[in-house]
Amino acid sequence: MSCKLTQRFVPGYLDGELDLSRTIEMETHLQTCGECARELERLQALRGALQRGALAYTAPEGLRERIQSSLRVSAPTEARERASGWHPLQFSRPLLLLRWAGAFAVLALCAVTAWQFLPGLRGPTSDQRLAAEVLTSHVRSLEASHLMDVASTDQHTVKPWFDGKLDFSPPVEDLASDDFPLVGGRLDYLEGRQVAALVYQRRKHFINVFVWPGAAGSNSTQTLEPRQGYNMMHWSRGGFQFWAVSDVSATDLAEFVRLLQTRIAPGLK
Ligand SMILES: [Zn+2]
Repeated sequence: MSCKLTQRFVPGYLDGELDLSRTIEMETHLQTCGECARELERLQALRGALQRGALAYTAPEGLRERIQSSLRVSAPTEARERASGWHPLQFSRPLLLLRWAGAFAVLALCAVTAWQFLPGLRGPTSDQRLAAEVLTSHVRSLEASHLMDVASTDQHTVKPWFDGKLDFSPPVEDLASDDFPLVGGRLDYLEGRQVAALVYQRRKHFINVFVWPGAAGSNSTQTLEPRQGYNMMHWSRGGFQFWAVSDVSATDLAEFVRLLQTRIAPGLK
């Protein structure tokens, strides 16, 4: 892929909107081209600043106070006008309409501004970005014949293999008795951090399970819409986050995840 094409696709890449082959082409180019890699970093930094709210502006203290006191001043005036027999409908309606029109115009302007700028700035949710990364890693692991760094069906071989390679010890369970044998593991990267990838097999299909420490907001298991023929589920359990991805059927994947969950933390529902 050329530099020109790469830089054109960088925003889409950041948003996780590129298809798989384009993503892989991009990443291959980014590894060898400093200029394009810097362009990517620049956009990532900008997005980071926007998400942290570093560019957000907080209204000064006292603004609320001033607005409220101005409202308190105008309210009694209107009450006095009514009490004095002055006909509010006849005279103040145009004024009222004008006020409403003004308020409406401001609201409409805000809505239009938000519509135009926010989707681009906010980008996809972190779930969507992560899903795109998980899928890319899965497909790359199959295509590049780099499925496993340690090939073993023995959890007591696979688990210690990660020692010293990661700053955590991932839970490793074999599910051979349930026809989901563990076949190996490798190191992988998601969201710029090192994660453990455990590889399971179901007949001719592979399931990648990515594991890293940290509990997500909820313990519930999320099933994602299939992407390009791949099913994905993620959950957190026992202080770890898990993402499973495979081209096995959604039913098989759900069964696999259920079995894995009960093995890793049998006490939890
Ligand atoms: Zn380039």
